[in-house]
Amino acid sequence: MANECRLVYHWCGHGEKVPYSLPTRMFEARVRVIRSTACDWCRKGADEQSNLLDGCAPMEGREPLVSRAEAIRRRALGQARALRGHATGGELDGFDELLRRIRCMNDPRWWVEHRADAIAVLARDIEVF
Ligand SMILES: [Zn+2]
Repeated sequence: MANECRLVYHWCGHGEKVPYSLPTRMFEARVRVIRSTACDWCRKGADEQSNLLDGCAPMEGREPLVSRAEAIRRRALGQARALRGHATGGELDGFDELLRRIRCMNDPRWWVEHRADAIAVLARDIEVF
């Protein structure tokens, strides 16, 4: 049968079908989410692209864990870069090492477990911290 689904567009321009058989509130919620997000395919592409730009190792694991971990790693990388911006002389090596560890850590489970203390854990045995 035709028209069993409504085609809704993500802001990236890709469409996703939402079945009319969903309860009204779920249907409306799904439509809202689709309209305000990029599709999985574009999100994955964006993660891969920013990993390339940031020099980060690709995460090894499955969605949606990887997407969550990518967001946590990007936040940690941003924080570490900001900290490095305030560092002086001898501290810079320590921050470079921290940035290297952030980029190399590609276990998504680790990032999700350490979403609150990733920088502290990765910096643990670096001298300047
Ligand atoms: Zn898309």
